[in-house]
Amino acid sequence: MAECIEQSRVACALGGIYTALAIDRVLPVTHTGPGCLAQAQGIFGRVNGGQSPVPFEESVVPCTDFCNTDVVFGGGEHLRTVVEKAIEYYDADLIIAVDGCTAEIVGDDIEEVADSFEGSRIPVISAKLPGFVGNNLFGHSQILKSIINQFLEPTNEVDPLQVNVFGIVPFYDTFWHGTLERLEELLIAIGLHPNIIYGHRHGIENVKKIPSAGFNLVLAPWVDLDIAEILEKKYGTPYLQFDNVPIGPTETTKFIRTLVEYAHLDQIAAESYIRKNEDRYYYYLNRQQPFIYSCKYVPKDFYFIGSASAAVSITRFMVNDMGSVPLRIYITDNVPKERQEAVRASLYDVELEDKDYEVIFTEDGGLAEAELRKEHESRSVIFGSNWDMLTARALECAFIPVCAPYGQTLLGTKNYFGYEGGIDLFSDYYGEISVNPQVAFIG
Ligand code: SF4
Repeated sequence: MAECIEQSRVACALGGIYTALAIDRVLPVTHTGPGCLAQAQGIFGRVNGGQSPVPFEESVVPCTDFCNTDVVFGGGEHLRTVVEKAIEYYDADLIIAVDGCTAEIVGDDIEEVADSFEGSRIPVISAKLPGFVGNNLFGHSQILKSIINQFLEPTNEVDPLQVNVFGIVPFYDTFWHGTLERLEELLIAIGLHPNIIYGHRHGIENVKKIPSAGFNLVLAPWVDLDIAEILEKKYGTPYLQFDNVPIGPTETTKFIRTLVEYAHLDQIAAESYIRKNEDRYYYYLNRQQPFIYSCKYVPKDFYFIGSASAAVSITRFMVNDMGSVPLRIYITDNVPKERQEAVRASLYDVELEDKDYEVIFTEDGGLAEAELRKEHESRSVIFGSNWDMLTARALECAFIPVCAPYGQTLLGTKNYFGYEGGIDLFSDYYGEISVNPQVAFIG
């Protein structure tokens, strides 16, 4: 762990409540200090593309406002009262009572509090999210484990074509919402029955369907593998890992063929889908060629600073489809030691002969800035979060935001998933290059 962390791109474990908030009508009740949620909001909310949870935005999430009296006398009864009031006044499908550092340190028994509401109008479960144990990815995992262990019921009915989607962490993956919508369309198009629990119209009914899946899909180099392993043990559901959210034709076509082979889908229909979409991708790229030719200079390499998941997606697209080369990749979301080699292997699994770039695991975003300011290749591109924009501008590098915190702007459904996402990233990339003073237009 770095001695000092600057420019954090993650929240503490309490940020895991955004996973609960991404499931329609799931309400977290926080047993924390009044400022804890604001800390997570600073990474995932307004500064991450103007995102706000629906229907329970941050300002209506009930909180015990853990204070001195709770530290001295214990805050369990205080939490019980707030949960009681939440059941009385809120219209929700599930309540998750979560704690933070102080409640964990004084030893409040939030599991007992949640259990005491058995049979209530709204089911209540609990999740421990102390920030001193881990970051928001740990918190995300804790929320999913609580749902699996305390809420899900086993089933005897299995739909072999149903696929539960994991690996995309809502709100932390800036583009999660649009990505999941496009992914759902693609999975339906190739003959699967996707079950996605986050986002618009995806709520508790989708959560309840998790045990009836034919398989679980993990779209990430390491996140949610623990969840897939638990589901395999508990319900016997096998899982397929594809190590990134595919961007562009090379990776998306590989993704579709992997699914077709794994789930024994209609190969002819899938190949026809691939042909149609690859053709469309290259049609739009060709339309933009004259614009690219008028740039004075096209960067040949890039830096990446951010999450492991985004790093693999961006690196695959930039190398395999754009012919660019990574110079250095900084992974800033504290990948567990035992998963780092797999992430590293994914980042070197590209169509490139000389893979002499470095992959650095550090939580310290300030380290990336310091190193880039000392030695950087001019006319490179930096992919990262809003933290990296000023560095990029100071170094006269082009900059593409791809990670949280994304910046104070409105995202809408923006995402870079699939063939369409490749067209959009291609356009954003050359659009940014064209306004960079080092490489702007000829004449
Ligand atoms: S680290 Fe602990 S005290 Fe700080 S915001 Fe997170 S839960 Fe609250």
